[in-house]
Amino acid sequence: MTPSSQPLLTDLPSYTVRVSSRAKCVRLALSVEDGLEVVVPSNYDRLKIPEIVHQKRDWIARNQRKLDEREAFFRSQAPHELPDYINLRSLGEEWQIEYCETATKLGSISIREDKEQLRLVLDGNIADIESCKALLKRWLMQKAEKHLFSWLRKVSIRTNLPYRTTAVRGQKTLWGSCSRDRNISLNYKLLFLEANVVEYVLLHELCHTVHMNHSAKFWKLVGKIEPNYKALDKSLNQAWQIVPAWLDF
Ligand SMILES: [Zn+2]
Repeated sequence: MTPSSQPLLTDLPSYTVRVSSRAKCVRLALSVEDGLEVVVPSNYDRLKIPEIVHQKRDWIARNQRKLDEREAFFRSQAPHELPDYINLRSLGEEWQIEYCETATKLGSISIREDKEQLRLVLDGNIADIESCKALLKRWLMQKAEKHLFSWLRKVSIRTNLPYRTTAVRGQKTLWGSCSRDRNISLNYKLLFLEANVVEYVLLHELCHTVHMNHSAKFWKLVGKIEPNYKALDKSLNQAWQIVPAWLDF
């Protein structure tokens, strides 16, 4: 008995066969949607296909790897996707978000808050990602108005540094600001930061009601109220990293 010269055609990658009347010879195609496809001309002897796939196994492995890498890259670029939780460190609240696809008139979306479970439910045309994001942002703005305004009032009373009005904004590079008329604006993204860092921002802006600059006198006033201000200022500079990327896309 002579050993067979045929290679063992086990462990072949799975594939589908597609007959194409336009194909002149056998060809392999690999894609995320269809996987591995063997395209053959009509009247092709299908018994030859396993051998061809076997011969092409290096090409298949190499291209499969490329596809996997590209997929991983797209998955890592997640900011265009919707978040499944929102961690408001400053308040010690982590909200889970659920999206429920329901048919509504005009394709609208609504947001529902379950305070006990710290759960947000978005109902409606949730395929509309931009509208979902806009709703979540609006919810964050309202949350910021509710919590940051009263927080600022408390710090103001405690430090005896009065201000005139407050507003919540969503600037990309500014945590807060104070005008000459002592109007303070605060970034709603402060909600994502640790409470002691937020408290430092509030104090910092309140000190600007006395000194409209970053002079030695200004820092002396800050230091009198918060001796640890240097470390807090430093962590504030790095804090942009913990603001979720989906907010700015
Ligand atoms: Zn400042």
